Amino acid sequence: MLNIILFGAPGCGKGTQAELIKEKYNLNHISTGQVIREEIANQTELGKSMQAYIAAGELAPDSIVIGMVRNYITAHRDAVGNIFDGFPRTTAQAEAFDELLAAEGLSVSLMIYMDVPEEELVKRILLRGKDSGRADDASEDVIRNRIAIYREQTEVVAEHYSKQGKYVAIDGVGSLDEVFGRICDAIDAHR
Ligand code: ADP
Repeated sequence: MLNIILFGAPGCGKGTQAELIKEKYNLNHISTGQVIREEIANQTELGKSMQAYIAAGELAPDSIVIGMVRNYITAHRDAVGNIFDGFPRTTAQAEAFDELLAAEGLSVSLMIYMDVPEEELVKRILLRGKDSGRADDASEDVIRNRIAIYREQTEVVAEHYSKQGKYVAIDGVGSLDEVFGRICDAIDAHR
């Protein structure tokens, strides 16, 4: 089973590219950010407990996010493969993720890092915020905080998978098709 982690800073284009990859390779896709937003929109107990973190651009607690991914994995045992978008975001999440997959006889196939410079990230998120309705996309302070947290807590997750020989970086700047082409090359080289 092909298990791809799409990795990169907020605003690097993971969600957009995940949709394209999903179609081409017939994979399932989970965005933990999207699952969290749905929990909040539905005002579930879980959603309410995460609302303040998300609005401030902080990470949701590891235990909650890991639980969401555990549910997803057990519900998609028959998948051709999966794209994990926005997860794992901390080393603790990566370790728990490897264990969750191993318990199912699975493993991460590839982490694809989409490299985009910070000023471009901020520009893209502010633009997206104009019609995404996402509160965490509207304020430049919150966006900068998300990027800072990414640098502090998430960036190191790349090392976790590069040590396993599973990490590949692509240039995330260019047209949708150009970036998609680079991602497909990385996936095809792996298969
Ligand atoms: P972006 O990558 O553009 O910030 P996401 O939709 O991936 O957007 O995530 C939105 C927010 O959801 C994050 O800022 C964070 O608060 C929360 N979140 C998403 N995934 C995780 C995760 N794996 N661990 C902790 N928090 C998460």
